[in-house]
Amino acid sequence: MRKGSSTDQPVAVTPGTAVRAVVTGDTGALVRSRPRERIEVATDRLKTVDSRVWCVCDPDVLVIGGGATGVGVARDLALRGVEPLVVDRDGLCSGASGRSHGLLHSGARYADSDPDGAAECLEEARILRRIAGACVADTGGLFVRLAGDDASYFEEKRTACQSVGIPVETLTPSEAREVVPELPAEVEQAMRVPDGVVYPSRLIAANAIDAGAHGAEVRPHAPVESITVQDGAVTEVRLGGTAETTVTPEFVVNAAGAWAGRVADRAGVSVEMAPTRGVMVSVEYDGLGPVLNRCRQPADGDIVIPHASEAVLGTTSVPVDNPNDYDTPAWEIDASVEECAKLLPPVAEAPVVRSWWGLRPLYAPDEATRGGRGISRGFVRLDHAADGVANMVSIVGGKLTTYRRMAEATADLVCERIGCSAPCETADRALLGADDPARLDEAVGTFDGQGPTDVDITTPV
Ligand SMILES: Cc1cc2nc3c(=O)[nH]c(=O)nc-3n(C[C@H](O)[C@H](O)[C@H](O)COP(=O)(O)OP(=O)(O)OC[C@H]3O[C@@H](n4cnc5c(N)ncnc54)[C@H](O)[C@@H]3O)c2cc1C
Repeated sequence: MRKGSSTDQPVAVTPGTAVRAVVTGDTGALVRSRPRERIEVATDRLKTVDSRVWCVCDPDVLVIGGGATGVGVARDLALRGVEPLVVDRDGLCSGASGRSHGLLHSGARYADSDPDGAAECLEEARILRRIAGACVADTGGLFVRLAGDDASYFEEKRTACQSVGIPVETLTPSEAREVVPELPAEVEQAMRVPDGVVYPSRLIAANAIDAGAHGAEVRPHAPVESITVQDGAVTEVRLGGTAETTVTPEFVVNAAGAWAGRVADRAGVSVEMAPTRGVMVSVEYDGLGPVLNRCRQPADGDIVIPHASEAVLGTTSVPVDNPNDYDTPAWEIDASVEECAKLLPPVAEAPVVRSWWGLRPLYAPDEATRGGRGISRGFVRLDHAADGVANMVSIVGGKLTTYRRMAEATADLVCERIGCSAPCETADRALLGADDPARLDEAVGTFDGQGPTDVDITTPV
């Protein structure tokens, strides 16, 4: 029987496969995990934690990777009544999610090169504004064309935004300077777009709180060490770190970002990743209103993100062979500052607060066909049934902005396979705690989920 459903009948749980469950009466064999669900468990599978008796658990679904995608999948599944366990080898948010630039894409950046991807961003950013409270900021954005930038590209971008449905408003240089007084004299044209800012540590904490409240277990510092596949299916997964246990999930989701290829290798399947690194530089700059985008073909250092008293400059895109060991050269920092200073000159001399690198979890075949940088950042769902592992899926690529949609697509596949017909609810339900920054920041601390992107915004307890 699939765990998470209700029954009045006792359910036999074989050793090694038991749900998380609290004993409600006799601490011998009868335990309760959900109202109306009675489960018989061998007493040797019970253990006492915090003076409550728990059953040694196995999840319905193991989600590998505690970035936005993985925790988003866990929330989605939990809201559908499935009991997932989401694990990360480090704290939550320690991958690309917590190290991104933090632009809540309106889609304008991709409107001319990838209208479908742009439409996804537009819709997802609207959903996040509805459900994600203090995890996002509705700053608006400007695309700015400087002297020497291609005027026809500006027109192409404007037309493309309009055909995707992204509301745009063209501004003269003086109108643009009314919005951002310190724009340079070289501004030729600008365009207002509905960009925003996302605070990833808070977003992931909110997803983790919500997932946990609906039956998910969230375990940072629990790396997947090995995956056993027998007769065409994952049979068990060994977790190290603070978990030190073996679980036997019904289904496995690989949401390990730039490391997805390495996780897939452990199950004997191939997921060819082509990660690229990018650097962000945060400088002191008080009160920048909207996100600033340079209106030209995507290149290094063409986005400035407003934070309270900082501006986050970036970024670069350089292929990386080994996601655990890659160069972080000073020229990338210098190039980002230099280029962003063309958009906002005072940042050239502003004190640098911090800089950090992240790895884009790009899927190699996708990148090869799209031709590399800035063309698209769509996501790819790989059903490993096609590779002979019936109960495993990998979800790679995408953006922070579209994490919810990636999670929905993944949870749809998982649910179809494990026989859960509950629909996705994540677009319509506010994230638990999203309107309570103090609660979110406390959860950031609980899950060791502070990434560098929004360290100036959150105050983890
Ligand atoms: C420089 C840069 C700038 C970006 N800017 C933006 C932006 O402005 N806006 C936007 O929308 N998107 C942006 N992105 C893209 C976005 O950050 C990513 O697409 C998204 O965050 C990926 O989330 P994820 O959960 O799939 O991967 P990740 O966040 O990388 O999560 C994967 C997790 O898997 C864990 N893991 C790895 N191996 C194991 C293992 N063996 N066991 C357990 N766990 C494991 C890792 O520790 C990691 O936490 C940017 C990316 C980069 C790199």
